[in-house]
Amino acid sequence: MKIALCIKQVPDTTDIRWTENNTIQREGVESIINPYDVYAVEFALKLKSEIENTEITVFTMGPPQASDMLRKVLALGCDDAVLISDKKFSGADTYATGTTISGAIRRYLPNFDLIICGQFAVDGDTAQTGPNIASFLDIPQVTYVKDLIHGTNKTLTLTREMEDGVETVKVKLPALICVLQQNFEPQRAKIAGIIKASKKEIKICTLDDIGFDANKVGLRGSPTFVSKAFRNIPTHNAQKFNLNTTDSVNLLKERIQTLGENKNA
Ligand code: FAD
Repeated sequence: MKIALCIKQVPDTTDIRWTENNTIQREGVESIINPYDVYAVEFALKLKSEIENTEITVFTMGPPQASDMLRKVLALGCDDAVLISDKKFSGADTYATGTTISGAIRRYLPNFDLIICGQFAVDGDTAQTGPNIASFLDIPQVTYVKDLIHGTNKTLTLTREMEDGVETVKVKLPALICVLQQNFEPQRAKIAGIIKASKKEIKICTLDDIGFDANKVGLRGSPTFVSKAFRNIPTHNAQKFNLNTTDSVNLLKERIQTLGENKNA
């Protein structure tokens, strides 16, 4: 099975900085692998342990520093890595991100069987990129994936965690799945894996490698833009109360009464 694993770096801080285009400042900011993508990596490694001749190629679109994250994921047992990095890709919204990543997968892993994404990225938090990639590549997609029941080179049987319960679905490959947090602790890299990963070449994919028009990627290829970005600092000067339970219930009752009176006034 040939797996394309899409992972993203997110700022490891709440001190988000914005560019003049209201896009997030990614270069030079302490970053970590998107927490949902940690489980996407585990999901890929689980399939690799269960299905013979499975190879995992990791893709990330981001600044050059994202290669550190790729090396860490190679050390866990993924086979190859592609850093999709070009100034022309910056400022992309999820449409342009999906376009670019699908172009890179077509270029470096055209005969993929499965694409694995995390369900959300904790910074942009749109959950749109996975579905965008699936629609650009015209393949079925299964989102909110919680667990793998059974997998072969032809189909996957999965559970989906929905608001009102858990659904079991079977999907024919090639397909894309977006995975949720799983019920297991992610594994740590072993020394042998770290040494092996340090020797691997990370392919750099630029706009020329994908062969798209510059108007299809980055800020210019983004039909949407973040019009305003601001930190939501609570304006009201929250009073600090050290209350025991009875006092706090009475205070709450008093506040609700005042609010009710103001409303009827
Ligand atoms: P999601 O779509 O939530 O990510 C889901 C999965 O897709 C990830 O788990 C990962 O597996 C994969 N993935 C996502 N990005 C990459 C990548 N760069 N490389 C590899 N795999 C990836 N864009 C919009 O179009 N609309 C918005 O409303 C919007 N709001 C934003 C708000 C904030 C605060 C920020 C910081 C960015 C916003 N963006 C928005 C831009 C958006 O973050 C980027 O397009 C981003 O690359 C993908 O969107 P996302 O972060 O929402 O990821």
